[in-house]
Amino acid sequence: MAILDRLPTVDRLSRIGIVVNGGCRNCGNVQELRNHIFFGYVFAREVWEIILGLCRVHREVRGGDEELGWAVSVLKGKSLIVCILKVVWCAYTCYIWEERNCR
Ligand SMILES: [Zn+2]
Repeated sequence: MAILDRLPTVDRLSRIGIVVNGGCRNCGNVQELRNHIFFGYVFAREVWEIILGLCRVHREVRGGDEELGWAVSVLKGKSLIVCILKVVWCAYTCYIWEERNCR
């Protein structure tokens, strides 16, 4: 859902004609876009950097489409590390989305 940009973010809801007030539910600063929720928001970005470090993936988190592109290109195959990273990716997106919904 997150990769396909199908989550009901404020931006997406407004695109389909549902009026929702406010910006980002987490920081309130900008329009709530998928890329902002998962990689632009400071808290989410720090969580993602920590997770990558724990997985011994050493790369600079650039955010937005570049993170999604990285995930799509790297999370292919069935090796152990790819399976672990897939689980990590799903857990991360679920956690960040649930955190957003709690707010
Ligand atoms: Zn925000």
